[in-house]
This record gives sequence, C-alpha cells and structure tokens, in this order.
Amino acid sequence: MKEIKTDVVIVGGGLTGLLTACALSSLELRILLIDKGIIFSDLNKKDFRTTAIAEGSKLFFEELGIWKGIYKHCEKIKTIKVFDRNISRKINFSNSKNLGNLGYVVKNSKIKYELIKLLKLKHNLRILQNTPLKKIETNQENTIVFSGNKKIVSKLLISADGKNSFIREIFGTPAFKKKYNHSAFVTNFSHKKNLNNIAYEIFLKSGPLALLPMKSLKNNTYNSSLIWSNPSSFSKNLLKTNPTLRKEILEEKIFDYTGEIINFFDTKVFDLSAHINTKFYDKRLVYVGDSAHSLHPIAGQGWNLGVRDVKNLLKIITDAKKNGLDLGIDFVCKNYHNLSHHHAYSLYQVTDKLNSIFLDESIKINLIRKSGFFFINKTKKIKNQITKYAMGV
Ligand SMILES: Cc1cc2nc3c(=O)[nH]c(=O)nc-3n(C[C@H](O)[C@H](O)[C@H](O)COP(=O)(O)OP(=O)(O)OC[C@H]3O[C@@H](n4cnc5c(N)ncnc54)[C@H](O)[C@@H]3O)c2cc1C
Repeated sequence: MKEIKTDVVIVGGGLTGLLTACALSSLELRILLIDKGIIFSDLNKKDFRTTAIAEGSKLFFEELGIWKGIYKHCEKIKTIKVFDRNISRKINFSNSKNLGNLGYVVKNSKIKYELIKLLKLKHNLRILQNTPLKKIETNQENTIVFSGNKKIVSKLLISADGKNSFIREIFGTPAFKKKYNHSAFVTNFSHKKNLNNIAYEIFLKSGPLALLPMKSLKNNTYNSSLIWSNPSSFSKNLLKTNPTLRKEILEEKIFDYTGEIINFFDTKVFDLSAHINTKFYDKRLVYVGDSAHSLHPIAGQGWNLGVRDVKNLLKIITDAKKNGLDLGIDFVCKNYHNLSHHHAYSLYQVTDKLNSIFLDESIKINLIRKSGFFFINKTKKIKNQITKYAMGV
C-alpha cells in the first residue's frame, strides 16, 4: 500500500472542495484533494447548473484573488422582483449604490474551470482523481484515509463530499433532515427579450419559480436559467414533455419577462431535500459545504453558505498556524464549528419556513403574506435589511 503524508486532506472536488483547496493553498501547508470521479473533464456535462453568487461571496473571492477569473463568466443581478402568485403582489429589491450588485449569475462549470486552472499552478497542492474514500482511521496524532491502494496520513480531514457525505456516515454524525415532496425543474434556455439584469422570484401556488439572467454571447438573443419547484410528479413529467409543449407551459408563466423561448440547452430535475449536521466537526475532522448542510434552493443560498464555511475555516486555520497549533486538535475543529454552525442553522430554518409560508393556501396565511408584501415594499429600511442579509454583507 502506498503511503502519502500531507498536512490536510480534502475529500471532494465539487465547488466547495475546490474552493477550500484554493483558499488554503495560500498558507504554507501540504494539501491533498481526492475525488471519486474525474473532475478535470466534461465540466458542463456533469453540472450545467448556475449559481447566484452573493456579494458577500464575491468579496471573499476578491480576497483570494479568484474573482477576476470568475467575473468574466458572470451576469450581474441589479434588481430582484419578487411576486406572490401574480404581479399585483410584489416587492422590488433594487441595487443601492453603497451595496454593490445584488448578485452574479454564473455556470457552476465555469467556476470549477477557473478554480481548477488556478489549482494546477499551486506547488503545495496535489489532486487525486478517481480516488474514492473507502475507510478512515483516526488516532491521537493523525487521521488516515484509505482509498484503493493508497493510505493518506494527515493532521486534518476536510469533508467536502456533498450532501450524501460518506464521511458523515462513517463518523455517525447526526443531522436534521427534511425531504420535500417537491423537485426542481432546472433549465438553461435562450429567449428574445432582455432581462436587463433583473432576476425574478415568482411564488406560484405549486412552488417557487426563479428566473436568473445569464451571460449571453449572441446579439439579440438572451440566455437565462430557470429553477421551478413543483410536486415531483409534475417536474418529472415536464422533463419528459416534448420541447414544443414545454415551451408553451413555460411561456405561460414567464413570457412577459423573457419574450419567446428560442431553445432549451440543458434540462434536468433535482429532488429537493435539506439537512444540517448537528455539529460541523469531529475528531480531526471538519465538514464544509453540502456535507455540512444543504438548503431548499428557494433563496439561492446553498453554495454561498459553503463559501462562508470556507472563509471561516481559512480564518481558524490561519490563526492555528500562527500559534503553532496542531490543525486537527479538538480546540481548532470546535472553533470552526462555533463560527459556522449558528448562521447555517438559522438559514436552514429561514429557507425551510419561507417555503412552507409560500405554499400555504389558507386564508389566514394568504392575508399575512398580502399585508407583508405591501408593508415591505413600502418600507425602505426593511427592504434594505433584507437585501443586506441576502447579499451576505
Ligand atoms: C436546483 C439547485 C439550484 C441551486 N442554486 C444555487 C444558487 O443559486 N446559489 C447557491 O449558492 N447555491 C445553489 N444551489 C446549491 C449548490 O448547488 C450546492 O450547495 C453546491 O453545488 C454544493 O457543492 P459541494 O462541493 O459542497 O458538494 P458537491 O457538488 O456534491 O460535491 C461533492 C464532491 O465530493 C465527491 N465525493 C463524494 N463522495 C466521495 C467519496 N466517497 N470519495 C471521494 N470523493 C467523493 C463527489 O464526486 C463530488 O465531486 C443549488 C442547488 C440546487 C439543487
């Protein structure tokens, strides 16, 4: 068996694992990232989804020096229009000069491409693809990760292996879990009308529909990404429906904003669930990104929360290194948990409750929503507070 010694091992080369590697590579540490798949190829085939990057995440990317690369693939969100059932109940969140943009829409494959490009230049980082984690042993000094004929010995294990984390299973870390009976129909498509940097969140009776402007390369046609949550059977049937009928169904909901739909590029359905680990650490282990928490995509905050984890972890590890501490001791891992868990738990609750409130058709909740929309739309101070919270600044 081949033994590899390193300071930190990251399991998972999705958005969070790659970002973690990028952030930690600025410290004098030997880093090894492993993934069970091949992460360097077919990026768009594996994940065509888009992410709405919040301003707070952007500021962190600037600190890491990776924003310039990502920004060239982004479309800015300057205004967010939120409708409850129809346009008569609305809240407009606008871009205020002091706060920067409300967000940036970018394809996951482009973020990964830029991160991988940077990581390939780092001398203190090694990436092993096609290397599934099989077993973990932890002792007083080290954590040992086994994969095939490799034995990886390190001080700290970073779990970035996604929402069905195998590491969480091995350690038996408890998690609150929520299964929604809804699935998100997700498509990227081209259309005739310019969204003019406006994102739409339309709370329909059956579930929320988000429309996000994407970077368009051709003149006179525009690209957007649509994420529409519905009872699972509806979403799955919509996926099977022929493109002509699908176009009619979608245009009925969004024609006023997109004009005629020209072409669907990528289309998929995602079953919706959420979870949060009761703790974000264990022996010589920390959880980041979806292995720690996953959210209902209602507010487009899932990966932004993962970015926050990475920012917190970078801070904790930088401090520990400065003080000459062993990176895997409980004190360090627990400090990371203390910094990350509370905010993640509140966001988990907020997104879950928002989803329930907007699906509720009772007269009482309907009335509360109606007056809430009216009040918030008229009250600049509250609107600014909500905007700041969503932007993560
Ligand atoms: C429909 C939808 C829309 C979304 N929109 C947004 C949005 O607008 N904004 C936002 O912030 N978030 C959004 N999200 C959330 C976001 O997509 C996720 O939070 C993010 O992709 C999670 O990345 P991750 O790297 O943590 O996990 P993953 O992408 O799941 O990566 C995990 C990695 O670990 C590897 N792995 C797993 N097991 C092993 C093993 N045993 N050994 C080795 N490697 C392993 C996998 O191969 C994979 O590469 C959305 C989610 C959905 C479903």
